[in-house]
Amino acid sequence: MTRVTLLAGGVGGAKMAEGLAALPGVDLTVIGNVADDDEFHGLWVSPDIDTLSYSLAGLIDRRQGWGVADEGHRALEVLARLGQDCWMSLGDRDFGLHIWRTMRRMRGDRPSVIAADAARALGVGPRIVLPTDDRVQTRVRTDAGWLSFQEYFVREKCAPEIRELRLDGIEAARPTPEALAAIAEAEAIVIAPSNPLVSIAPILAVPGIAEGLRQARVPRIAVSPFIAGKVVKGPADRMMAALGLRADAVGVAERYAGLADVLVIDDLDSAHSAAIAARGLHPECRPILMRDQGDKQRLAAEVLEIARMLAAREEVA
Ligand code: GDP
Ligand code: CA
Repeated sequence: MTRVTLLAGGVGGAKMAEGLAALPGVDLTVIGNVADDDEFHGLWVSPDIDTLSYSLAGLIDRRQGWGVADEGHRALEVLARLGQDCWMSLGDRDFGLHIWRTMRRMRGDRPSVIAADAARALGVGPRIVLPTDDRVQTRVRTDAGWLSFQEYFVREKCAPEIRELRLDGIEAARPTPEALAAIAEAEAIVIAPSNPLVSIAPILAVPGIAEGLRQARVPRIAVSPFIAGKVVKGPADRMMAALGLRADAVGVAERYAGLADVLVIDDLDSAHSAAIAARGLHPECRPILMRDQGDKQRLAAEVLEIARMLAAREEVA
């Protein structure tokens, strides 16, 4: 068995997780993102962790990539009728998980334990680990003022121009022992093709996590969320450009310098290879679009193969 630790956000992260989880011989631990968490109708909602859990449990709505399949919205209809603001789409089955999570948090249970118990109960094979049990939230300063990430992403549909990103609570955040162990004990570390700024950065920013990656003496492989110079989905490109960063695979390499050995980019981005190498990451070109389970598994197998190649090179050196 190869112990693989994956850093992952929501939809892009879950795709990579599903690919790795399906490979024989992989013992997978996923460190997820909690900085998109927010409270709705008195309930604690953890969108990225739930996307991971629903995907790995086979419950996900494949068409949209998030939420539970075969979902209803009757609870939300009642909340709207009662005058609640209902821009955040939360399904009836989904509500069940949020009710249970909130109940356990109010009892004082650790968020990590709650996430692990939820994953187990839903039938998830891999371990899902939180980077911190403390409250860390992405805030976005736009021309419309400071917004929570969900307000920016879901309510405003990423329309306002971004001026600044902030991670509320990060100074006081402590890493979970599970996340530190997942990094220290990994035989390969993979950074999913997730949004580098709002999915991966909040994991890395928890004190001890980036240091763990920097010190790791095992293959560290990142996969680019850019294909042919564009993101597959979501605001990563616009966010990076708005903050003065390069919005392409080279910009991703700049973010992960010192934290990853290899950046897997798409064959269509091979022109960036030299620029990526100049940032200290070795570029590997592969098809990295994951349309279906076959694509996910194929890419996961390629990533693992690259890890084996790196490990073998280390042994020789
Ligand atoms: P979110 O939390 O739901 O926004 O999801 P993530 O942060 O985990 O992933 C978002 C990123 O995934 C986007 O920047 C997409 O470009 C990337 N992405 C989505 N699907 C694919 C894919 O099939 N291949 C690659 N390489 N990236 C993808
Ligand atoms: Ca997210």
